[in-house]
Amino acid sequence: TALLQGKFAVITGAASKRGLGKATARLFAEHGATVAILDLDEAAAKEAAADLGPEHVGMACDVTDHDGAKTVIDALAAEWGRIDILVNNAGITQPLKIMEIAPKNYEAVLDVNLRGTLYCSQAAIPHMRAQKQGKIVNMSSVSAQRGGGIFGGPHYSAAKAGVLGLTKAMARELAPDNVRVNAICPGFIATDITAGMLTPDKLEEIKAGIPMGRPGTAEDVAGCALFLASDLSAYVTGSEVDVNGGSLIH
Ligand code: NAD
Repeated sequence: TALLQGKFAVITGAASKRGLGKATARLFAEHGATVAILDLDEAAAKEAAADLGPEHVGMACDVTDHDGAKTVIDALAAEWGRIDILVNNAGITQPLKIMEIAPKNYEAVLDVNLRGTLYCSQAAIPHMRAQKQGKIVNMSSVSAQRGGGIFGGPHYSAAKAGVLGLTKAMARELAPDNVRVNAICPGFIATDITAGMLTPDKLEEIKAGIPMGRPGTAEDVAGCALFLASDLSAYVTGSEVDVNGGSLIH
């Protein structure tokens, strides 16, 4: 059955072909949602949206640009008449050690993962509040919970831990307006974010640490996002949901 029939969803960082955002966009569309894919490159965003079908839209948006994100999300709200779902998925990582983090590394990683989540939420919240209904799903990481995933440096762990704090504070503040806010903490998922850094030996080493014995897929994460974006999770807010094959059981 269609869990998101008639719903309008905005997903950031969803142009990446094998990424978590694109898989989430596809699953939402299959469940009846109209989806807007926001990403840095306009052509890539439009191409990704076209893959889903003609009613979906792709738009250029840098999530770190406060006014830019607001302009794009306001335009979608004007066109659709509402914004039901926001998935803050845009993210970058860098495999640096603590002493290697230069100011520019800190800025890049904190800005996309954390500042971007704040700015896109601030753009969507007035619409969700006005309609007294909304769901925000934020992409954190196991890296936030265990102090490093596999490829992310300490600044990435800090940014993703920041996303968890922001998620919980927003959940508390927005609950009276019937806006639910939750986070997903993916473990190791095979996407392009690890571009080129994954050797066969490294993959075996990673698999040895996963009780389920396999890396996650983008679809594994999309399924969790669908749950959090739909009424199946009607009484769930401020939670962090692990999608990690048992690699961090706590
Ligand atoms: P990906 O690299 O495939 O996709 C990320 C997308 O974000 C890209 O399309 C990129 O263009 C976009 N992006 C980057 N900066 C942006 C900006 N300033 N504004 C708008 N878009 C921007 O990565 P992915 O693996 O699909 O990761 C998606 C999310 O999941 C990220 O937040 C990532 O940190 C998180 N995550 C991934 C894993 C994993 O193992 N793949 C694990 C935990 C968390």
